[in-house]
Amino acid sequence: MKLPFLPKKEWGQNFLLDKNLLQKIVDSCPFDKKTIIVEIGSGYGHLTEFLAKSNCHQVISYEKDAQLHFWLQSKWKEQKNKVIFLYQDALKINWPELRQKYNQFLTFLVVGNLPYSIANSLIFNLLESAELFENLVFLIQKEVAQRWVATPQKYKKEYSALSVYISLITKPEIIFFVPKQCFFPQPSVDGALVRLEIKKEIQLEKEKRVQFWAFLKNCFRHRRKTLWNNLLIASYQEKKIREVFQKLKYEKNIRPQQLTIQDYLSVFNFLQIELK
Ligand code: SAH
Repeated sequence: MKLPFLPKKEWGQNFLLDKNLLQKIVDSCPFDKKTIIVEIGSGYGHLTEFLAKSNCHQVISYEKDAQLHFWLQSKWKEQKNKVIFLYQDALKINWPELRQKYNQFLTFLVVGNLPYSIANSLIFNLLESAELFENLVFLIQKEVAQRWVATPQKYKKEYSALSVYISLITKPEIIFFVPKQCFFPQPSVDGALVRLEIKKEIQLEKEKRVQFWAFLKNCFRHRRKTLWNNLLIASYQEKKIREVFQKLKYEKNIRPQQLTIQDYLSVFNFLQIELK
């Protein structure tokens, strides 16, 4: 396979060439003619082409690699007015500003065959502005995907603070796995397509989410320790921890991996009240 430029490994340049797979990704995306699709990482435009052929309203595609961006812009022939290519680092997108530029009545879908190195930072940025979007669909490393969708029952070993935080804001789901052989050049691990539907009602006000995230990180800091000990290490007073555990009827030896998002919200809310 000959590409115009040498793939840059550090920018996660593992391209998708299989047309069936590209179509399958588009078919897994929830959108209609009022949707603006924001693509992260145009690459050679393989996915962009399939997105542009769909009945969406518009595609805005970001690329950080100048070589690829300008090459693609000069070659692009199809549906010219439907696609906007932007040369920009996706981690620096001002999402509220972008959203504001477009008609209030359009829905926003963010999609990408993501460079593995930016997946977690990008999802964080997007969750911070979650109310701007309806859905996010990403092809990411299989292990990262499992971490994103993990619960105390599913992918238990991957269940982490990030899994809980993601499930506060979205309904995440792995749609299908993608063997590493489907990418060029081939990465060392398989991928998975994940769809995150933003919840219409998020159970925690925006102002409290930063605090909740810090709290979750404390709860999972030492995975082998009990929740009780993790809270102690995070400097919560033992008396307060005891009160919360009594109220919620938790065994003292409960581990962070056993609590659901609802449990974490309860503990967090109780500790908030107790702290006042
Ligand atoms: N969508 C294409 C390319 C996927 S590879 C395909 O599926 O074939 C990932 C792409 O993201 C690469 O082109 C890489 O240069 C680009 N990229 C890497 N880091 C980026 C960033 N921070 N912002 C935007 N694009 C980035």
